[in-house]
Amino acid sequence: MMSNRLPLILANWKMNKNRSEIREFLQAITGKLPLTDLLQVGVAAQSVYLEKMVDYVKQHQVPLDIFSENLFYVNHGSYTGETSPAALVDIGVKGSIIGHYERRKLFKESNGAVGLKVAASLGNGLLPVVAISEDTATYDPNDIEMSPLTEIAISFAGIDKKWASKIVIAYEPAWAIGSDRTPTLTEIEHAAKVIRKSLTFIFGSTSANQIRIQYGGAVTPHNAKAIFALPNIDGLLIGRSSLAADNFLRIIDDVL
Ligand code: PGA
Repeated sequence: MMSNRLPLILANWKMNKNRSEIREFLQAITGKLPLTDLLQVGVAAQSVYLEKMVDYVKQHQVPLDIFSENLFYVNHGSYTGETSPAALVDIGVKGSIIGHYERRKLFKESNGAVGLKVAASLGNGLLPVVAISEDTATYDPNDIEMSPLTEIAISFAGIDKKWASKIVIAYEPAWAIGSDRTPTLTEIEHAAKVIRKSLTFIFGSTSANQIRIQYGGAVTPHNAKAIFALPNIDGLLIGRSSLAADNFLRIIDDVL
């Protein structure tokens, strides 16, 4: 790690796990997560379970931050079915994934909406984990300059650089999500560098160097350590390999 950016390992459970499976997972990791200020560990889960999860980790002193998988960008009003940043803060949630590829693709979430959600998160004291991805059709490891950078430019337009240290970007190639393929280490580091360079244009180099960039997409206990060690990568966003407590613990053990 060439910076003092605090790496974040975040589980993305998506729409998996019911109440008793969540309890089992939390019990399995209780007393097993490292007490360290070198790593931040979190789990993002379905909104209905978040309050119970927050209460559990508080009560059992588990060093685990609880994240939402999505939020809306307005705090009150007539928005049937949405979850506000204020409500998440109210129950003790730490932050939220924003603009995951599945939300962009299945729910047509636009770069503009992602930008509003980033601003609303920061304004309410929630950490935004902004997912940036290339589509399979446009992916070219030698030229990732196009779609992710448009996503970045729009997502962070109007965000003051004083927030830089609170922003997390999750770089996730769309074709790696849910697959068994990852880019090579060289490609991941290259993508992270390009992303950081574009952040430099938006925020200036001091602030851009404070922004954490995670890698996500087919992370497993076998590849996590090597990806985590890349100089411009500051953590991992993990889907399938975060569902079993022993895999999740193994990854955390390995990267430390
Ligand atoms: P995966 O999912 O680790 O199962 O590929 C990652 C993600 O969608 O964030």
